[in-house]
Amino acid sequence: RFPPVRPRAGRSRLVVLAGPTAVGKGTVAAHIAAHHPEIHLSVSATTRPPRPGEVDGTHYYFVDDDEFDRMIADGELLEFATVHNRYRYGTPRRPIEAALADGRSVLLEIDLQGARQVRAADPAATLVFLLPPSWDELVERLVGRGTEDDEERARRLRTAKVELAAQNEFDHRVVNDTVAEAARKVVELSEAPARYSSRA
Ligand code: 5GP
Repeated sequence: RFPPVRPRAGRSRLVVLAGPTAVGKGTVAAHIAAHHPEIHLSVSATTRPPRPGEVDGTHYYFVDDDEFDRMIADGELLEFATVHNRYRYGTPRRPIEAALADGRSVLLEIDLQGARQVRAADPAATLVFLLPPSWDELVERLVGRGTEDDEERARRLRTAKVELAAQNEFDHRVVNDTVAEAARKVVELSEAPARYSSRA
């Protein structure tokens, strides 16, 4: 369904960071972006409304359903998915190809469905699954951040179970004990020889 990612310069590659809700993917990705300017952090498009403090073009490109449909029709998305059975999210293709051509690796913070599509589009992509220290810790983090109501929390925990069950599809698993340490490991994996490069 998705055309393959074009050849890239040097050792630049796609690094997917996935994992269950509230595990801290966003925080780890932001930490990496702040400390590693050589890594390009992909900004997704989404039909979800912005949360307080979220900036259009920085956290996401906030678009309506018609615009999202147009992006799909025009082949602008590398992958897309409906997440938590609710809003649509997708990865704009052009900024990623520009970064790869520039010799920069690209970090994608996306869900399991997106990770599978990236693997199909680019067998050399490095897929990292971020794990919570425990299930209870995950629930605590989700409740603690307080950005979702009860129904949305329940929805996200259902998705989390599905995602955790698929962790073996990933090349690497990293436990998010502390943000700095998890970020360090992800960066290290992004620099290691790609496990699937022979399939590229
Ligand atoms: P949130 O609404 O909390 O910002 O994100 C919800 C979920 O959508 C997270 O699991 C996040 O990884 C995922 N997500 C964000 N951007 C993308 C994207 O471009 N593609 C896919 N497939 N999932 C995404």
